[in-house]
Amino acid sequence: MSAVETIVRYIEGQNGDLREGLANTPKRVVESFDEIFSGYDEDAKSILDSTFNAEGYEGIVLLKDTEFHSTCEHHLQPFSGRGHIAYIPVERIVGISKLARLLDMHSKRLQNQERITQSVADDIVAHLSPLGCAVILEAQHGCMKCRGVMKQNAIMTTSAMRGVFFEKAEARAEVLQLMRRDN
Ligand SMILES: [Zn+2]
Repeated sequence: MSAVETIVRYIEGQNGDLREGLANTPKRVVESFDEIFSGYDEDAKSILDSTFNAEGYEGIVLLKDTEFHSTCEHHLQPFSGRGHIAYIPVERIVGISKLARLLDMHSKRLQNQERITQSVADDIVAHLSPLGCAVILEAQHGCMKCRGVMKQNAIMTTSAMRGVFFEKAEARAEVLQLMRRDN
């Protein structure tokens, strides 16, 4: 008996053969796990490995409104939202889709939002050595919507500021202005 079958039986209190609608559920759930938790098969180094000459560009690079889906490690409930990822390159830039892939990699693991935010920022610092890096995530959590406090519209925001965005209020204000939703 698979672990998922045990869970299904626990939910329904059912013995004997699984009813028709549930018969293939354990198999489907395990297959979906391969996708939902595929982030364990990747590492930041291979995602951020290929960089390009920045050709003197020294402004902010911002990827705004990139959606992400993750799974809360406390309740195994989904949480999802949007991420804004910015850095100021020093000599090397990275393909912008790599920032989205990095966010996906960390999201597709058992997580909390704080850890994803910090991990994305720390990986960018470690592999690109930028002047600064700023990551903001805004998400709604299934474990708050369908259980517990039952809040349907609450948005949790987390931020990680590194380098110049941490040290200089002007730089932080500029990146936050660029990240604003109505911008
Ligand atoms: Zn939770």
